[in-house]
Amino acid sequence: MQTAYQFKLYPSCVQSDRLVEWQNKIRSLLNVCLADRIDTYQDSLAQGEFCSLRQRGIATPLACSVNKSASLGEYWKENKPSRRRGDKTKPFNPRRSAVEIHSSFATLWRQTKPWYADVSSDVLQQALRHQDTAFGRFFAGQSKFPKFKSSLEIGIEFKPGTVRIENNRIKFPLLGWIKFAKSREIGDNWEIRTCTITFDVDCWMVSVLLRDNSIPDYRKKETELKTVIGCDVGIKKIVALSNKEIEPNPLIAKQLERRLAIRQRNLSRKKKGGSNRKKAAISVAKVHRDIRRHRQDFQWKLGKQIAKSADVIVFEDLNIQGMKRRCKPKKCELTGKYLRNNQKAKSQLNKAISDAAWYSLRKKTEHQAAKLGNWLITVNPRGSSQECHKCHFVSSTNRDKEKFVCENCGHHEDADTQAASVLAARGVQKLGIDTLTVVSREVTTKSALTDSPLRKLSPALASESGNPAKYVQLELFSSWEWKTG
Ligand SMILES: [Zn+2]
Repeated sequence: MQTAYQFKLYPSCVQSDRLVEWQNKIRSLLNVCLADRIDTYQDSLAQGEFCSLRQRGIATPLACSVNKSASLGEYWKENKPSRRRGDKTKPFNPRRSAVEIHSSFATLWRQTKPWYADVSSDVLQQALRHQDTAFGRFFAGQSKFPKFKSSLEIGIEFKPGTVRIENNRIKFPLLGWIKFAKSREIGDNWEIRTCTITFDVDCWMVSVLLRDNSIPDYRKKETELKTVIGCDVGIKKIVALSNKEIEPNPLIAKQLERRLAIRQRNLSRKKKGGSNRKKAAISVAKVHRDIRRHRQDFQWKLGKQIAKSADVIVFEDLNIQGMKRRCKPKKCELTGKYLRNNQKAKSQLNKAISDAAWYSLRKKTEHQAAKLGNWLITVNPRGSSQECHKCHFVSSTNRDKEKFVCENCGHHEDADTQAASVLAARGVQKLGIDTLTVVSREVTTKSALTDSPLRKLSPALASESGNPAKYVQLELFSSWEWKTG
């Protein structure tokens, strides 16, 4: 089992200066290598197209210049059997891959530039490897084309086995011992994998990837799956579960919206290039960091509660980018002028969608579920809020805002928890396992409310006054009365 812990690092002034230098050096090498890949692609494009950047497709994988080739560095490997890694029975391929070509270039770069001698070669190689992964992700359609970096974005990653931790200090190659705030214990039998140093607004952080070899990676078998829960995400209620539990949205960005606006206005009035502008920029970045940390804290805790609640967790597979797309412009046919298209209201909705960060919640839940061996699956959400989970009757008039009344069988429920039940049913259908039962919890008494595990959410946030995350409402369907006829 692997997990990452993040600690605050306290380097000395000398070490801190050195880290900044390293960041600059890594950045310049990465940008040279990225430019090289783009140039190589342009050269090969002139000879004949091998891969399409726009389509993100590789026409002939072996010849794709961006993914497979580079022009800086050594193309060919030395055929020394003692140096060969992996399966030695395979035929020897003398051609290097793009990342290997660039790795050899990094060695040459260090030899020709003496000031690079104080940067660990491992660190440079790890950075190049990450750039290669970025290209892989681009061609898999998972991310955008890799960008040229600024030095602040650079993380300094050390290979496994090069870093040592003793009490509250950590030893990096060439940097020496650095103290860190040991906010959580690291087990004795845990193996330290990679360590990454990053600069976060005004302080250095270290992220330590740990592996606990005593706990094997475990995923429940199909026969072990017993329960299923559906999760419907939204704006007002960040998540509604099929067991009728509701978690309100803490609106984290909205809470700090005013403070952010004040600081941004303050920043805009500072003279460009001045030191006061830098200070103001840091104060703005701190608000963004607060928002990020609050959200992460909230989502990790909520994700864990959801992950624990059932063997199979069903989320909706939302097209969030599509939801946030701009409204189409409206044009008057007579005058040719542009009419109001409601984009202003839409932009507020987009802001709320970004603040809710559903994808990140799903990813965190997935991580927590994987630790427990539980499954997280996604289903198509189309029409889930209009379908009745009891009789599967679909109608747009079934739902009226937060109320749901089935026009066919008369079933009535909160619209969001009912949609979650539909998702759970779709999840069962997708897996095709008959033995799965949908988790349900009847909440009737007040003591049940206080004993609910969701009640214990987010203690750090809950201590803040006026925070909606303080209370978790488990509302049964009582806010309106069902009348026949
Ligand atoms: Zn029905």
